Amino acid sequence: MHRRIIGLESEYGFLFVNRGDRIFPSERALEYLFQGIMPNSWSRDAFLPNGARIYQDTGSHPEYSTPECDSFRDVVLFDKAGEKILSKAAERVDRLLVREGIEGEVHVLKNNTDSAGNSYGCHENYLIDRNVTFWRLSRSLIPFFVTRQIVAGAGGLVRDSEDRVRFVISPRALHIREKISCSTTSSRPIINTRDEPHSDPQKYRRLHIIVGDSNMSEVSDLLKVATTALVLEVVEAGGISDRLSLEDPIAAIRMISEDPSLTVRVRLESGKEMTALEIQWAYLEACQEYFVREKTEEPVRDILKLWEKVLGELSRDDESLGREIDWVIKRRLLDRYMKGRHHGIDDPETAMLDYQYHDVDERRGLYNLLLRQGGLERIASDREIEEAMVTPPRTTRARLRGDHIRAALAEHRSFTVDWTYMRLNDSPQETFFWMDPFCATEP
Ligand code: ATP
Ligand code: MG
Ligand code: MG
Repeated sequence: MHRRIIGLESEYGFLFVNRGDRIFPSERALEYLFQGIMPNSWSRDAFLPNGARIYQDTGSHPEYSTPECDSFRDVVLFDKAGEKILSKAAERVDRLLVREGIEGEVHVLKNNTDSAGNSYGCHENYLIDRNVTFWRLSRSLIPFFVTRQIVAGAGGLVRDSEDRVRFVISPRALHIREKISCSTTSSRPIINTRDEPHSDPQKYRRLHIIVGDSNMSEVSDLLKVATTALVLEVVEAGGISDRLSLEDPIAAIRMISEDPSLTVRVRLESGKEMTALEIQWAYLEACQEYFVREKTEEPVRDILKLWEKVLGELSRDDESLGREIDWVIKRRLLDRYMKGRHHGIDDPETAMLDYQYHDVDERRGLYNLLLRQGGLERIASDREIEEAMVTPPRTTRARLRGDHIRAALAEHRSFTVDWTYMRLNDSPQETFFWMDPFCATEP
């Protein structure tokens, strides 16, 4: 398999719950959160010693963008490291609030929609070859992204205008309005045409995908990026034509999200009707065929096996998926809770549970509680995640960035960093350029 640069951006929900009488603006609590992550930094946009970027996105969302990774496992590791960085920062805010005599706490949620129905979530970035025709790539990928939610959907409750509540596979799917466009907020597309490669634009393009959910489950997170990277390689090599093209992808992505039974059939341009599972099987088979021919290495074979196993279990509604796939884990949790407490799906307590699943706090977050009880499959260990909070990936330019940041911080030097360069502000001639994202060393 070709080496490929991948990065994930996650927009987090931020909530300050004031339980006392004293007024304390939520904005101040958010300020404390950023101060905890970037001491001595005046801006709310900074790169960290692990090579990641953290900043305040529109609508008071903290956003964490992983450093450039070149292995599937690293993506999960550095994505999880972001959760942990934010969870530690939130704990610190809670301590500061106690010291100031404020009763309340902050919550940082790695979720996909808020109670007002706004959608945020996850952006995926994949380095692709500039020579691939973008419209062909898009056509080959759209049915994949429409159906990928059955392995990578985060699951969630949705309330309609008549106050009826239902469970959907992917909360993000309901906010997708177009097949292809340059927008990321107003008319969210399946394929985003934004073209900022953060590397040599003659050679590369950065594919920016905003159709997916943020994941708590490490297995769903891994499958989300890894299956996409496999499919991308097959498409780049000229495989997977438009034989799976859907008649109406926007309608299809909703129909699939609305159907946790996975039985709904969507119409292809050819007139044929297929379920999401059948479409995913078709992509898997194309990848199996291609990568067997290419005699590929271990990590790719592992992903193919895992993808096959998960699709097989989804066909049978196997119990074990309740340890692996985000939307299945969450649905089981909600079902058990509703049965145990005799609550309906539209009870406010059930809605609370839906949010608490995504709380990054290790004591309060329900996903994290299940994890601590040993109820979930893992990809990364706690020790590796802790290391990834402070150490950059060793095989991409993120290493240069992270190591330089650590050195500059140690020497109290002022600096400016971006994905492709770093400048020491006290000596403007010292600017380091890192245009090649694959290059982890410099003379
Ligand atoms: P916005 O936040 O406005 O969407 P953006 O898409 O440029 O802006 P950032 O939040 O700055 O996003 O994150 C960029 C992401 O792209 C990071 O996860 C980073 O690791 C990844 N990335 C950087 N360079 C490349 C590259 N050449 N190819 C693929 N991914 C890259
Ligand atoms: Mg971003
Ligand atoms: Mg982005």
